[in-house]
Amino acid sequence: MSNGTSVHPDTLASAPTGAPGSFLDEVLAATPGDSRLDMCIQCGTCGGSCPSASDMDHTPRQLFAMIRADMREAVLRSSTPWYCVSCYYCTVRCPQEVHITDVMYTLKSMAIRAKLYDEAIAPDFSQTFIDYIENYGRSFEFGLATRHNLKHRLRQAPSMIPMGLGMFTKGRMDLTPQRIEGIDQLRSILACAIELEAVG
Ligand code: SF4
Ligand code: SF4
Repeated sequence: MSNGTSVHPDTLASAPTGAPGSFLDEVLAATPGDSRLDMCIQCGTCGGSCPSASDMDHTPRQLFAMIRADMREAVLRSSTPWYCVSCYYCTVRCPQEVHITDVMYTLKSMAIRAKLYDEAIAPDFSQTFIDYIENYGRSFEFGLATRHNLKHRLRQAPSMIPMGLGMFTKGRMDLTPQRIEGIDQLRSILACAIELEAVG
């Protein structure tokens, strides 16, 4: 994990909460419902729980400190939301009940609007994930990780093999995608969601 900002996020834990018009307020307003992002106490449970943390340039905790510190551009350029695979593990473990996964969606959407995402990572990783959801109704970790590592992290790919084998032998990872029952209903729901988003 690298730090791509001039100010280390660890120094920002005590940054003041945003005033009206701050970036924190902007993120709160753009996230459906009450995301409770302003309730974050910087405990780090989210980063410690996140299966994608090693790929992210900032842990979720660091990213939230950067939001409080009004580091709008650095946050929207971060790879963190794009490596979020929406497992909700952080959300269920957060002692402050911050809706972390929802905030990640908000940041992705804001980064696209501001054209500040990393083109080498963002659309490609997300589109692969979306393709699996549309075709099978669930994520397919083996395919997602293999495609991403072969395309973007070829040199590091061999180092992932022991972990992959470990997950496979413990039954935590399938070698082929499994389609859910009721995929047609899911596709209808997704089509409705796309229509609703289009009408705004
Ligand atoms: S687990 Fe919750 S309170 Fe702790 S750093 Fe993450 S978002 Fe903040
Ligand atoms: S929902 Fe995203 S940020 Fe949270 S633990 Fe899962 S991958 Fe990490």
